[in-house]
Amino acid sequence: MARKFFVGGNWKCNGTTEEVKKIVSTLNEAQVPSQDVVEVVVSPPFVFLPLVKSLLRHDFHVAAQNCWVKKGGAYTGEVSAEMLVNLGIPWVILGHSERRLILNESNEFVGDKVAYALEKGLKVIACVGETLEQRESGSTVDVVAAQTKAIAERVSNWAHVVLAYEPVWAIGTGKVASPAQAQEVHFELRKWLHANTSPEVAATTRIIYGGSVNGANCKELASQPDVDGFLVGGASLKLEFIDIIKSAE
Ligand code: PGA
Repeated sequence: MARKFFVGGNWKCNGTTEEVKKIVSTLNEAQVPSQDVVEVVVSPPFVFLPLVKSLLRHDFHVAAQNCWVKKGGAYTGEVSAEMLVNLGIPWVILGHSERRLILNESNEFVGDKVAYALEKGLKVIACVGETLEQRESGSTVDVVAAQTKAIAERVSNWAHVVLAYEPVWAIGTGKVASPAQAQEVHFELRKWLHANTSPEVAATTRIIYGGSVNGANCKELASQPDVDGFLVGGASLKLEFIDIIKSAE
């Protein structure tokens, strides 16, 4: 079954109003494949979400980089799924390794967040990935399977989930996974979904790769059978993001 190519741009904690406006105008002018071929979602920091949403071309969409695990209320500093829905933000990134590792988000906590966000009507880019230490000890597949299991235990409908495989050692390091390394883990994740959710979920869920994707390496990664797109950090702030979107073709 055909899975539509997906390219996400994770701007992380970067940008000023002026810079954000500049990136958006560059995106708005870009000639890229149609929405039938590629789904493009950019994820600015919370404070810029309304601005980006108001200025961005309508064939691209916006995502938040996080949201709270349950209904909002007395949780200082958090942003709730309800607020994102209220602002018309369709997507949210959850479980990014920077949050898992720096902010100590556990597999269970991420699973709870994914389930709650979906329940509120958001679409979710759910991130999994191993550290260098875990890869070197041979536990990559176990680690990403455990992260995915914590989601699968709480979520039955995967229609609005994109799974992002982002090896921690490849994020922001310039050390991209080889196409074979990416394909191997994507294949294992799809196999896991097949065995633990349903054949249909396995066949239809987009599994995207993230970690030092750039204009030069995207084409070969995109040619792998189980790589359905990318989650791009550093390069999503640059002109080469357009080339990455074009790798859908
Ligand atoms: P990077 O980040 O492309 O800068 O490696 C990817 C990500 O963290 O999503």
